[in-house]
Amino acid sequence: MKYDYIVIGGGIIGMTTAREIATRGASVAILDRQKFGNEASRAAGGILSSMRPWNENSDSTFLSEKAKILYPNFILNLHEETDIDAELIKSGLIIINKEHSEKTKKWSNKNKITLIDKINKNYPEINIPDYSILLPEIYQVRPPLLLNALYKSLKILSVDLFENSRISHIEVKNNKFEYVKLNNDKKLHAHNLIITTGAWSDLFLKNINTTVNIKPIRGQIVCVQTNNNTIDKIILDGRHYLIPRLDGQILIGSTMEDVGFINNTTEIVKQELLDWAYSVAPQLVDEKLIGHWAGLRPAIDDGKPVIGIIPNFKNIYINAGHFRKGILQAPASAKLLTDHLFKKASFIDIAKFTLENRKNITEPA
Ligand SMILES: Cc1cc2nc3c(=O)[nH]c(=O)nc-3n(C[C@H](O)[C@H](O)[C@H](O)COP(=O)(O)OP(=O)(O)OC[C@H]3O[C@@H](n4cnc5c(N)ncnc54)[C@H](O)[C@@H]3O)c2cc1C
Repeated sequence: MKYDYIVIGGGIIGMTTAREIATRGASVAILDRQKFGNEASRAAGGILSSMRPWNENSDSTFLSEKAKILYPNFILNLHEETDIDAELIKSGLIIINKEHSEKTKKWSNKNKITLIDKINKNYPEINIPDYSILLPEIYQVRPPLLLNALYKSLKILSVDLFENSRISHIEVKNNKFEYVKLNNDKKLHAHNLIITTGAWSDLFLKNINTTVNIKPIRGQIVCVQTNNNTIDKIILDGRHYLIPRLDGQILIGSTMEDVGFINNTTEIVKQELLDWAYSVAPQLVDEKLIGHWAGLRPAIDDGKPVIGIIPNFKNIYINAGHFRKGILQAPASAKLLTDHLFKKASFIDIAKFTLENRKNITEPA
């Protein structure tokens, strides 16, 4: 059999892309060298916000805003299809960092985004300074549930899933992808190849002598189980945040560590995160620590993902480099690439995200 598409990398980006393509009627196989959804996507907090929109690449912000519009139906359709509720909830987000609050306030006023200030008296159990602001329209989703729903949806859509599948060879002839050969000697042929290998994209692209300059940035999160949680909003303080879940769990994140491909947790970061959390919400001292994990974000210099054809190849595409926003941007990135593959006009010109056009970007990361 020759598939229409093979997708390599089964994180949120690979699975959402495979699903979008399959729903349009093409045959798809997706493969990962381990279990699907086991890397950055599972580690993520699931905040659906740009976090620092004033400091972000404007194309990336546009992608994020489109994703926010797509999210409710994305989750609803997955729920109806799979019976798995990914817990999309409008938590709202309180910013308690002074500089961050002021910049967000200016940006929100300019862009007519609803925000509420003078909120400290409403949250007596959290240390909220006077200059804090609340963005009431921010959603969160629960990444492990979303990944489970996507996995089930791919099965329902008859996408062929190859987990724990290592590639031993990629056959390219006259700049055209032909097939991948797996370690067990099985060959998978396809008309097109899509690379969604997140932080490992440059390592993978070495196989076809291409670089995209995506590098891993580690983030760690700890998780406590509360019995009587009174925190119902996401609390953001610079890089640190609290994310309250429906079942009383509270995620305490996160870090930005440039440590290469080392994906372990460290005691020093655990203590740093807990110390910060206890300073904001002292009642958390009494709660039980139930988890601590790390993930490698796919960071890219110019601050926007790379989506589209890989130059010099006729049928090899990439969708990677979503850094801190892969959960948020997944549905919009998948739609943009799939519209392009199916020759349909999309909500933004894909040329803004292709590798070929990267040199023109001057905005900050
Ligand atoms: C601590 C933390 C918190 C975060 N919080 C948020 C948040 O609140 N909101 C948000 O939007 N984003 C958040 N992110 C970012 C988000 O998690 C990432 O942007 C997103 O998960 C990237 O998805 P991906 O599919 O590209 O990568 P991944 O999920 O890492 O998937 C890549 C996949 O490729 C596979 N792979 C790699 N190499 C090969 C190979 N050679 N062959 C086969 N398979 C291969 C890997 O096994 C993996 O399954 C967070 C990240 C971290 C670490």
